[in-house]
Amino acid sequence: MQNLLAGYRRFRQQAWQERRRLFGMLAEHGQSPRAMVIACADSRVDPAMIFDAAPGEIFTVRNIAALVPPYAPDGTHHGTSAALEFAVRVLHVSDLIVLGHAMCSGVAALLHGAPLAQADFINSWVSIAAPARARALAHATPETAQNICEFETIKLSLENLRGFPWIAAAERADGLRLHGASFDIRSGVLSLLGERGQFRPVSP
Ligand SMILES: [Zn+2]
Repeated sequence: MQNLLAGYRRFRQQAWQERRRLFGMLAEHGQSPRAMVIACADSRVDPAMIFDAAPGEIFTVRNIAALVPPYAPDGTHHGTSAALEFAVRVLHVSDLIVLGHAMCSGVAALLHGAPLAQADFINSWVSIAAPARARALAHATPETAQNICEFETIKLSLENLRGFPWIAAAERADGLRLHGASFDIRSGVLSLLGERGQFRPVSP
């Protein structure tokens, strides 16, 4: 915690001073981010850092493995779906980005099962992507399974996004674009999902 408080003091002295006016405007007028990112909670994959985004620029929800659950307005607690509803129906973002990453522990739990001591919630949560696991294992070797499953999980989350009626409607009306992206923490390279279902590195 001491490291974090030291970081907070640096923030107050530097970034806060530099961005005081921006924060003031955001406080006065509210936020109007144009994009929402669904990212993994992994400490190595910070969307604001990867996209060099300023405060107010991206609305973010992070969870294990950057998963979008199926549309299920059943009265239980859906944190990711609530964030999606706010971004799409209240903020009217124009882009939704599912940001997965290499070496994802959540995807490893999907492939191999979480250890028993981590099984209260993780296994149930990652089972959202069971169809992605099945697709990956159908054409992966043990060496490629993790990487292929990471990509398939992103595609599955995009499919689930289109199951939300107000996301599908906004996309049909050209008011919303959906994107799949993957960040490789080994190389720092971001890849985007193309129309042919392949991930291609973004040109530097
Ligand atoms: Zn992850």
